[in-house]
Amino acid sequence: RERSDKFAFQTEVNRMMKLIINSLYKNKDIFLRELISNASDALDKIRFLSVSDPKLLGETTQLRIQIFADAANKVLHITDTGVGMTRDDLIRNLGTIAKSGTAEFLHQMQESQTADASSLIGQFGVGFYSAFLVADTVVVTTKHNDDKQYIWESDASSFSIVEDPRGNTLGRGSTISLHLKEEAHDFLDQETVRNLIRKYSEFINYPIYLFVSTEAEVTPPAMGHGSSSEEEAADTETETSEDADVQEEPAAAAEKPNGDGTSDWELLNANKPIWTRAAKDIADDEYVRFYKGFSKDEKDPLTHIHFSAEGDVSFRSILFIPSEAPQNMLTDFHKKVNNIKMYVRRVFITDEFDEMLPRYLSFISGVVDSDDLPLNVSRETLQQHKLLKVIKKKLVRKALEMIKKLAEDDEDKEKYKTFWKAYGTNIKLGLIDDFANRSRLAKLLRFPSSNSDTDDTSLTDYLARMKEGQSNIFFMAGLNREETSTSPFVERLLKRGYEVLYLVDPVDEYTIQNLPEFEGKKFQNVAKEGLKFGDETDSQERRFKKIEKQFKPLTDWLRTKLEKFLDKAVISTRLTGSPCALVASSYGWSGNMERIMKAQAY
Ligand code: ADP
Ligand code: MG
Repeated sequence: RERSDKFAFQTEVNRMMKLIINSLYKNKDIFLRELISNASDALDKIRFLSVSDPKLLGETTQLRIQIFADAANKVLHITDTGVGMTRDDLIRNLGTIAKSGTAEFLHQMQESQTADASSLIGQFGVGFYSAFLVADTVVVTTKHNDDKQYIWESDASSFSIVEDPRGNTLGRGSTISLHLKEEAHDFLDQETVRNLIRKYSEFINYPIYLFVSTEAEVTPPAMGHGSSSEEEAADTETETSEDADVQEEPAAAAEKPNGDGTSDWELLNANKPIWTRAAKDIADDEYVRFYKGFSKDEKDPLTHIHFSAEGDVSFRSILFIPSEAPQNMLTDFHKKVNNIKMYVRRVFITDEFDEMLPRYLSFISGVVDSDDLPLNVSRETLQQHKLLKVIKKKLVRKALEMIKKLAEDDEDKEKYKTFWKAYGTNIKLGLIDDFANRSRLAKLLRFPSSNSDTDDTSLTDYLARMKEGQSNIFFMAGLNREETSTSPFVERLLKRGYEVLYLVDPVDEYTIQNLPEFEGKKFQNVAKEGLKFGDETDSQERRFKKIEKQFKPLTDWLRTKLEKFLDKAVISTRLTGSPCALVASSYGWSGNMERIMKAQAY
């Protein structure tokens, strides 16, 4: 007999399991989503490795997922021909949680109400341990190229690992066997399982087969991990070819009846990546389901763009804007974040490339699949590839195009409001960082203004309302609308019918400093010297000169008396009700900027 070793779970795993069981008992069926997604990840891994070394596929050339509900024994089996796990992998991957931020997540969960626990947990991804939502015993049989076949078994309190006495029965890959709890016996029902798989696996890029049978007790015939079938011959042939997606099993293989015709492996998904299809053939709700599947976001995305780029580099992509900003997006602005999954010729490469999109657009999620990038290189080499730079540049353009469309959507104005509320600061920061797209970004800006108490304005609309002779865009920066709109700096402008933008977001003033003009109009901070209305006449100018002269004794006196505080004292036309105002010099910081700088302790 092989020696069985017993292990304790890492403390975090115990806490995570408890949490999952307590907060997701109403959403038990997500276990299937998690296990199918793990199978798909494992298939991605072997497919990626096999691109540079096809021999790694060995006999098990067909990349697929099989599900068998064994009603007689009350066990649900999920099998994949993925990369498998070595003994060390089993201990590490199914005994600890390596994910960064787990401790933080567990802490947050304990604080939060159980009501939003399931959405939090959904964002985090509950993973393998969700198997214990439905099973009291979980058995993982697995075979990795670098090791023997092992059996991992657990009742959720501890786990054991033993070398499989049967030897290598899998070829390569894993079978997760769930010994279902009494209350989870529903998951043995073929119809239930079929519907669930359809729901969770629609966009999985590997074929998923369900064993269907009309007989009560039947063991499914092995589909073989290569065996001697005709399909296998075809596979071996294409295996060495460059085109990776033909490694997938032809769908016809499943349709072939198995002997008596009462039981069969039924193919449940189309497994053709959605981004390879024509946009006109894809319904909106398909995009939504695809988005929810890969992002784990429960809410519909705000919008998407599906395009294919040709020219210097050809690639296909779908980008999405989540309807809510990720938590801590702005406080974590310095951190590297990437929500873009990178594929090369349908082979998943990584979702960890730095800056597929610039930091200010990193809230956008999606997929990119390129035909032109090389497959037989490491991820590191690929990351440096010059074509990737071209892709990144085009992605930014398309992302901005998607946002522009949202801004111009006359039928649904609320969407851009939602967008602006969630991501407005990102756009402003982008204006500071992304020189090349500055004018595109400027058109996306929205500011509160004296034109409306409720609606923000775009700069384009401001320009359209400018008074005759007005050459500048006026703005007042401050803490809030109340402060800016009642400031003595703006009173005369308002009285004379000029529109003033109220810059009340701390980043606004930096942004405007990085935007010297918009469509030929310069920005004028009304709290700084040199305020000109633009409609001054010659006689007004003469009259002003006269007054300046007349009051020179007063301004000189003020200047000497307040020498410590003032650069100069001048006569101004900017006020109506207030007797005087303190103004920043045009090159100095405005009062508002000074306040921000102080707050940030520069
Ligand atoms: P995640 O998928 O987010 O990494 P999981 O809890 O779902 O977290 O899985 C933990 C780890 O266990 C995976 O990262 C993977 O290394 C391993 N694993 C789980 N299922 C499989 C499988 N079917 N084949 C190979 N490895 C697997
Ligand atoms: Mg997982």
